[in-house]
Amino acid sequence: MEHTKCLIIGSGPAGYTAAIYASRANLSPILYEGMQPGGQLTTTTEVENFPGYTDGVDPYTMMDDMKRQAQRFGADIRTGMVTKVDFTCSPKKIWVEDTELIEADTVIIATGASAKYLGLPSEKEYAGKGVSACATCDGFFYRKKTVAVVGGGDTACEEATYLAGLCRKVYLIVRKPYLRASQIMQQRVMNTPNIEVMFEHNTLRLTGDNKVQGADLVFRKGEADEKTVHIDIDGFFLAIGHKPNTDIFKEYLQLDEQGYVVTKAGTPITNIAGVFAAGDVADPHYRQAITAAASGCKAAIEAERYLKSVQL
Ligand code: NDP
Repeated sequence: MEHTKCLIIGSGPAGYTAAIYASRANLSPILYEGMQPGGQLTTTTEVENFPGYTDGVDPYTMMDDMKRQAQRFGADIRTGMVTKVDFTCSPKKIWVEDTELIEADTVIIATGASAKYLGLPSEKEYAGKGVSACATCDGFFYRKKTVAVVGGGDTACEEATYLAGLCRKVYLIVRKPYLRASQIMQQRVMNTPNIEVMFEHNTLRLTGDNKVQGADLVFRKGEADEKTVHIDIDGFFLAIGHKPNTDIFKEYLQLDEQGYVVTKAGTPITNIAGVFAAGDVADPHYRQAITAAASGCKAAIEAERYLKSVQL
């Protein structure tokens, strides 16, 4: 059976950064890339806010750069899905594709979170052509344009307010007659003149010629005054929540009510010794490539410290 000092699960900025640091610390890490090599970032069009890329960078290039940087120091980066774990023993047991078993002295979980989508066929049709789940990543491309944000929580309000600073107009499409967001976020939205909140609206479809140019909405579906409304927009932002990819760990790790891994404040340390969590899987708040990369670095340093402390 294969054994490693450090197994990293996930290939976003957190996973690759952990691999860079762990390989430079002679932990000879093995990293499994998972279903979406490069992680969530690869769903965006261009990365302009990662320090060091003066002119912005294509996300695939950036993730490939990180991957090759980790490989340069000896990280063993493999294609494959981790489908099962057993954290009750030491070393920890990890199964790849349900069959291949690996034992690891430390595990770094960097499986990320997936943005929730409405499930409309047109969301897929316009993926990368006006549909986005990250205003901070993509908002800049819609300067002086009109966009819509879907959702009524803190993320939706935060994204709508952020986009209002860049865009001509922002529609906030809310399915209920009220916002779920905290009072302060609601106030910010209500006090921003170029945000129009559309309560009790649901999106039926996106329209446009090879890119998003509009959306058909339904007002008060199923009620006597139900009506269909069309809005002209250039961008459509989903902000209806994220789902952390923690299903296979929930038996062992402490998770919060939304499923994010709970870590010791300011660290990647989980409730299980030798298991660390980095990036969006443990971060419902920031969700940025740079914050994920930083936590991947912390996780590798903690893994090294743990190995020294137990002298495996
Ligand atoms: P939430 O789960 O709080 O809100 C999701 C929103 O999306 C809700 O308004 C929900 O509607 C709506 N929604 C869900 N599914 C659909 C759908 N199919 N169609 C239309 N609307 C839909 O997620 P958030 O990402 O906003 O927040 C997650 C957590 O992170 C929260 O605890 C939040 O407080 C926190 N957060 C804090 C921030 C801060 O403090 N600055 C910033 C961002 C997030 P409905 O209300 O009808 O269920």
